[in-house]
Amino acid sequence: MDAKTCLQKLQYVGVLAFATVDEYGNPQIRNISAIHYEPDAMYFFTARGKNFCKELLADGRVQILGYTKYKEMIRLSAKAEPVEEEKQEHWINTIFDEQPYLLNVYPDDTRKLAGIVFRITDGEIEYFNLGVNPIFRGNYTIGGGNISFKGYQIMDACVGCGNCVQNCPQHCIKEGKPYKIEQEHCLHCGNCHKVCPVKAVERIG
Ligand code: SF4
Ligand code: SF4
Repeated sequence: MDAKTCLQKLQYVGVLAFATVDEYGNPQIRNISAIHYEPDAMYFFTARGKNFCKELLADGRVQILGYTKYKEMIRLSAKAEPVEEEKQEHWINTIFDEQPYLLNVYPDDTRKLAGIVFRITDGEIEYFNLGVNPIFRGNYTIGGGNISFKGYQIMDACVGCGNCVQNCPQHCIKEGKPYKIEQEHCLHCGNCHKVCPVKAVERIG
C-alpha cells in the first residue's frame, strides 16, 4: 500500500465525505464527487456561495473519508487551498469533462460564476483495512504532509506478564524486553492498556 494507491482507491469510491469545522466550531460534513485526481494530488469543485467554500477559505483544514466495498477505510487529512484565479477555468473545465452530470447542475456558463476549485497537495493518509486477517493499517503522505503517530506503545516498565497478549484481539503483541506491538496490525482497541498491571502501555496521539 502507498499514497498513490490510496488516492486511486478513493477515486474508485467516487463519492467522498468531506469534513470541515464551521465558524462556531461545529463539525460539518458533505458528500463530494466533483473531484479530479492526480497521482499525488486532488482537485475538487464547489460553489463560491456555499458554507463549505466559506469554511475552506477561512480555515482550509479538511478530512476526506472513503470506504471501499473491501472494508478499507481511507482518510486524508489535509489543508485545501483555492487554485489560482487564472487557472480556475482550466480546472473547472477538467472536472466538468470528467463528471458530465455537473452540466445538469450548472448548465452553460453558470459554472464559471458559481464555481471554485480547491486543491490538496500536502496531507496525511490513514489506511485501515478490516477485510484482511490480521487487520492492516498504514500511514502515508502526499507532498509535504506529516505522519502523526497514534495508538499504543509498550514502554520499558513492561515486566513480561503476558496479560496484554492474552487480551489482544488481533494477536499483534510479540514477546520481548519490553513486549512489542506490531503497529500495522493494531486495532487501537485499548485492551492492552486496560489490562497491564504496571501501566507499561502508553496511549500516544
Ligand atoms: S490496542 Fe488492541 S489490538 Fe492494539 S495491541 Fe493493544 S490489545 Fe492489541
Ligand atoms: S501486560 Fe504490561 S507488563 Fe504484561 S507483558 Fe503486557 S505490557 Fe508487559
